[in-house]
Amino acid sequence: SISWMIQANALPELRQESAQFASMHSDVLQDALRRLNKAYQSFFRRVKAGDEPGFPRFKGEGRYRSMTFSHLSKQLIRTIRKRMARIVVPKIGHIAIRYHRPLPDGKIKHLTLHRKASGWYVSIVIEIIDPVEVPVKTTIGVDVGLEPFLTTSDGENVSNPRHFRESENKLGVAQRRLSRRKKGSRRYKKQREHVAKIHEHIAKQRQDFHYKTAHWLFLQGEEVAVENLKIKNMVKNHYLSKSISDAGWGRFRLILQSKAANAGLTLTQVNPKHTSQKCSGCDSIVPKSLSVRTHDCPHCGLVIDRDHNAAINIKKAAVALRGGVVVTNTPETPERDRSAEPCKTCGAAVSNKPCPLGQGN
Ligand SMILES: [Zn+2]
Repeated sequence: SISWMIQANALPELRQESAQFASMHSDVLQDALRRLNKAYQSFFRRVKAGDEPGFPRFKGEGRYRSMTFSHLSKQLIRTIRKRMARIVVPKIGHIAIRYHRPLPDGKIKHLTLHRKASGWYVSIVIEIIDPVEVPVKTTIGVDVGLEPFLTTSDGENVSNPRHFRESENKLGVAQRRLSRRKKGSRRYKKQREHVAKIHEHIAKQRQDFHYKTAHWLFLQGEEVAVENLKIKNMVKNHYLSKSISDAGWGRFRLILQSKAANAGLTLTQVNPKHTSQKCSGCDSIVPKSLSVRTHDCPHCGLVIDRDHNAAINIKKAAVALRGGVVVTNTPETPERDRSAEPCKTCGAAVSNKPCPLGQGN
């Protein structure tokens, strides 16, 4: 096949022939080829692995939404005033930006301009020194699911915020309205923009929720343990499919990973085998179907919420992986108090821990 190198080497000639190519920075063109190469490499890998291949899609004008630059000015960012700055983008010039946090010290690797429904965004990749690894003293086991979003080995729940539902209803209304508009008309385009903005809003809400939840988890322990779930396999299971992709578990795991990497903390992935069937008190296997929400052990008499039991098993597996002493933290009063009112902000059960969303009870 044609390699990235051959195509990239053909670029200078192409730029001499075409005014359109000449008007673009060579970084952007090379990056387009890099993305193309990556798409095909992944495609070939999937074919080889026997997965669903999914042929790479042609990214036309309407689907190509970002440009990456790597040859950047030494003085890339010039602050104008608080939160306002000017960046120098090759071939484009000075662009005024609003930035929401100070940049860390380090070597600037590249810069990407993204077009989203709500406007243009700049992201800057900076190479920083690895943080000092924090020694693990406390491990938090986490079981993820549909509702609640997750349960920790301490028996705490984090529910999906209610505003997700509201946004999804809004999206449904907007999409139905779009389907009634005549394709290509001015009103159709307007409505399509509206739908795109709602999509973006939902993505931001979800990301915000994930970041706050990840932050809350790492406040409780230096190590967070999760199941090493293959999302694709779970989506094949029809009972779980909507829930898993809905809750964006894959995204959440990425955020946990980045959070851990940034702060020198540890994210451990354990084998998901038997995490929900095993008794966290006596290690015997207690088979139960998905609909059974309570773990009731006939061997040691432990009665505990199903997800809480799984979270404890995940924690134990992670501690064992580290070669540490397995501490059983099975609570003395295992049955959760279901009469308590959930938190008004995040929907989590009332506890003495702060609300993961930072507000409410
Ligand atoms: Zn037991």
